[in-house]
Amino acid sequence: MARKRNRSRHTGRHPTGKDLRQAERVRQLHPLQQRQHPSAVAADQSKLAHINTYGALPDYYLDQPFVCRRCGQREIWKATDQKWYYEAAKGHMDAIAVECHDCRKARQSGGKPSGGGD
Ligand SMILES: [Zn+2]
Repeated sequence: MARKRNRSRHTGRHPTGKDLRQAERVRQLHPLQQRQHPSAVAADQSKLAHINTYGALPDYYLDQPFVCRRCGQREIWKATDQKWYYEAAKGHMDAIAVECHDCRKARQSGGKPSGGGD
């Protein structure tokens, strides 16, 4: 029962095999267990009104492992980042992380930041 209290601020960047396994394991839990899992982040559905979906809006977000489609690196799209993406940046629900931090950063510094937007 080693319950590590090591809550370093993970960004999901360069995850260890353990991070990935953990995230994958949580995704296989029953939704009730997922919701109560410490890595789950509650959704604020009032901020998801931009999403026109016939299905239910999410109650919570979970860390989501993915493989970068550019460089093939495995990374984790953190629940907190998903919350920001959907609720603050008003992203689409069917959007999923496809590029790792490094590739996104490389792309952003290559292209012009679309400035402002208060
Ligand atoms: Zn990448």
